[in-house]
Amino acid sequence: MYKLLTPGPLTTTESVKQAMMIDHCTWDDDYKSITRTIRKKLLELAHVDEQEYTSVLMQGSGTFGIESVLTSTVGTKEKLLIAANGAYGLRMADIAGHAGLHWELYLEENDRIPNAGKVVQILQQNPDITHVAMVHGETTSGILNDARAVGQAVKDNGRTFILDAMSTFGGIDIPMSDWGIDFLVSSANKCIQGVPGFSFILARKDSLQAAKGKARSLSLDLYAQWEAMEKDGKWRFTSPTHTVLAFAEALNELEREGGIPARNKRYRDSNRLLISKMKEMGMRPYIEEAHQGPIITAFYYPENREFSFQEMYTYIKKRGYAIYPGKVTEADTFRIGNIGEIYREDMIKLCEIIKDFLEESKHA
Ligand SMILES: *Cc1c(COP(=O)(O)O)cnc(C)c1O
Repeated sequence: MYKLLTPGPLTTTESVKQAMMIDHCTWDDDYKSITRTIRKKLLELAHVDEQEYTSVLMQGSGTFGIESVLTSTVGTKEKLLIAANGAYGLRMADIAGHAGLHWELYLEENDRIPNAGKVVQILQQNPDITHVAMVHGETTSGILNDARAVGQAVKDNGRTFILDAMSTFGGIDIPMSDWGIDFLVSSANKCIQGVPGFSFILARKDSLQAAKGKARSLSLDLYAQWEAMEKDGKWRFTSPTHTVLAFAEALNELEREGGIPARNKRYRDSNRLLISKMKEMGMRPYIEEAHQGPIITAFYYPENREFSFQEMYTYIKKRGYAIYPGKVTEADTFRIGNIGEIYREDMIKLCEIIKDFLEESKHA
């Protein structure tokens, strides 16, 4: 048994795991009411109401949710701008390419955030662009993009804004309306601390209504999924029942912890503690402090010494934790996440293990 210091799936509580010990029938009223409660609570977390906004649950991992939004909302005569600074931003471009959407890329370096002014400039030069998509927390590097500035810029210019808030929603407060977000996508196994199996989409109702009949896929048709779910809470196709039960419990636990502000504080405290202890050991974060998010941190390999990530990974895993390899291409990094059922004590223990590893491998 080891704890996961990864950006999801992550270490969940015993009670979340316990919630999955029931086999539920999908058309049963009790089950449908769980779906309705989840949809309602997600809107509350985003500070929006059912008059103007709605939520849709979608089978599959986070990527399925992103693919659902992009391929259901960008029509054949419309065009998508993707602001990317990492692998998840580029994945949106990959999805757009596969689906044959009209799209354009605004690419930033992995350690720089997309600039709202630059987005405005692109929109003004390209009146044919109708939608803009960006990642909030780029899990590739741990950088936190300025979704608020970009969202407001997109709104001021009358376009539709799609935010991949996969690794941030529930861990960072996102007032959806204030930030000008039309579609927000996240999934069950990230900061809400559930298990994998579905993604969810929070949407402005008028923006979602505009998507009717535009979908390029049957199973990922966002509008059709919503229409079916609106009737009485039954999902369109077989839903991941155990995951849904676990998620309902995870939402209760988020509430009991003190909601997003309390969870954000726990993540932030763990993240700061981790970074300061790693710095003491000579390990530098890849992202500068001003843009470092509280979810996951990429560290450079230590300099001026032999270092094997695989050896360190195995050493740490034997002692109770799984860390994550790097994903940025220009530098040798590894990543440590601090979301899930993870506390300050875990950061302290982990850093002691890393210290021992560095000591022992120096003498080896
Ligand atoms: C986890 C994640 C996704 C979705 O990845 P899946 O493997 O499909 O769950 C998308 N974007 C970001 C930023 C993520 O962290």
